[in-house]
Amino acid sequence: MRTSIKQWFLAPFIHELPFLCISYFLLLPNVFTAYMKDDLRLGRFLQPFSCDGIDNSTALLFAYLLTLVVCMTHNKLVKWILYALGIITATIRVFLYISYKMWITSSALALLQETNANESREFLQSYVLSTNGAFALGFLLFVSGIIVIVESQRKRIARFMAKSRLKYLLAIACTAALCLAIYNLKFYTSIYKSKTNEEASNLLDKYGYHYTARGHNTILDLFVAYRLLLLSREEDESVSEFALKFDKEPAGIPMEDSITVVYVLGESYIKSHAHLYDYELPTTPYLDQEKECGNLFVFNDVIAPFNLTYKVEKNTFFCNSIADGEHWASSPSFMQLFKKAGFFVGFYDNQRGGKGFKLENINGSRIYNKDVARLSYSDIAEHSCQYDADFIVDVMKKGIPAASRSLHVYHLMGQHGPANQRYPQEFNKFKASDIKRHLPFLNNNNKAAIADYDNATLYNDYVLHTIIEQYKDKNAALIYMSDHGEEMYDYRNSAGRAKAVKGMEAQMALHQFGVPFVIWLSDSYKAKHPDKVEAVCAALDRPFMTDNIAQVLFDLAGLKTQYYKADRDLISPQFKPRKRIIDDSGSMVCDYDQM
Ligand SMILES: [Zn+2]
Repeated sequence: MRTSIKQWFLAPFIHELPFLCISYFLLLPNVFTAYMKDDLRLGRFLQPFSCDGIDNSTALLFAYLLTLVVCMTHNKLVKWILYALGIITATIRVFLYISYKMWITSSALALLQETNANESREFLQSYVLSTNGAFALGFLLFVSGIIVIVESQRKRIARFMAKSRLKYLLAIACTAALCLAIYNLKFYTSIYKSKTNEEASNLLDKYGYHYTARGHNTILDLFVAYRLLLLSREEDESVSEFALKFDKEPAGIPMEDSITVVYVLGESYIKSHAHLYDYELPTTPYLDQEKECGNLFVFNDVIAPFNLTYKVEKNTFFCNSIADGEHWASSPSFMQLFKKAGFFVGFYDNQRGGKGFKLENINGSRIYNKDVARLSYSDIAEHSCQYDADFIVDVMKKGIPAASRSLHVYHLMGQHGPANQRYPQEFNKFKASDIKRHLPFLNNNNKAAIADYDNATLYNDYVLHTIIEQYKDKNAALIYMSDHGEEMYDYRNSAGRAKAVKGMEAQMALHQFGVPFVIWLSDSYKAKHPDKVEAVCAALDRPFMTDNIAQVLFDLAGLKTQYYKADRDLISPQFKPRKRIIDDSGSMVCDYDQM
């Protein structure tokens, strides 16, 4: 019995070593692509319990199991079918990675499902028949060649391995990795057991899944993508159900005859990089001027509940209050309430990207759920642009229909990284030499990155100016805030939204969760609503979290709805500050005001 287990265990190392090795590499095609980029970090292989450890060890386990199947069936056809599957999936992955930096995600799966025959033909013509397509074909031929060569030597290798002690060495080394893989399978089961998209996403964040942009082993990627797709579908159905339920409720009552409310959601804006908030460089000339003229009101203590776009989107576009224990999915979208009350609702999203609705839903937000969209938007932008101001100009050129009561919502690309891709050449004003801060880790490269970010901030100021200009002669109120903050070598050697390190949690929270928040009121609005001006002025220092933004919009618009709660409304005299719990995807959940 003992001998048979030993033989059984050793069989892949003796009889099918070429298949074992090649399957392992075909499951991890990113190993090939990583060589072409500088993202191969050996450290990844030394973190056995992070996603890289899970990735590599389970790839070995899957390769080993497939090899066992080949050994046990003794069927050449099975083996060549498995080889073919391995080569095809690896080639597709290499192609997707070099062409689009894309790996197998739930969005990619959804895209595949949505693509029709015509689009597939266009795709084939314009992309596959390209340099990258030729490269992928070269990869396919190269790997196939290697397989033919090693397979022709398989019997010799098997005879050698049968005699050699090398098989024991290999088996011992692989046993350690296989044990690790079996332990790491709990990652798969916990993803499988997740009941919601959020739960699964938090787990993936915890393991650092999203930070390996070149993708993971093919089975891991397919598994995660498929699971997220299913959870996303379930979430989508429940959002639809709620949207239809809210539609049956009585409509709110508009108190104004003629008004335009504008809501601009920015992106990745570090508050301390705004001159409006005392930054040393003049990054906000237009907003400074609006403030000077008395039309712009700057709020000092506003934070976001999350530092990820899609989580903020869900919790700000829907009417829930996190501190009051309400989940976004069981609240109506504020745009639905505005539309139902007779407002014209224009929704202009420069982050929308793809043209289908499903895709954006997979990406996390539910603002494009088909029922939410139908019941919430009177007009919608179908295209996006690289630069925000071009997008705004496009929207204006097309013309937003005039209506006595309007809500216009803009969602910008803002300062989302890479910041140097966010502004046209004419806004390339600040250079590394303009960054005068002295911090020990600041070198010229870091300073150049800060300058890029400040240029993107300067451009964002121009974008807001372009929007404000459209509303100057109207009875209009506008809110601008960023979805979350960011870091740009501000207090540690880090850019983006890295996790907090011990002792620097408060700094991290300040930069990544603190957001700029301003209200702009036109002259006509100010003249008609002196009470609101007074209310806004009284609120500038109140502690507020942006999940309750809908309440401020209802107030400025004069929309009476059962969902309006004065004690959650930042500018109401009845406002009561709430506990502000910030959540860095589960890894840091704490009370912002106690940090
Ligand atoms: Zn964002």
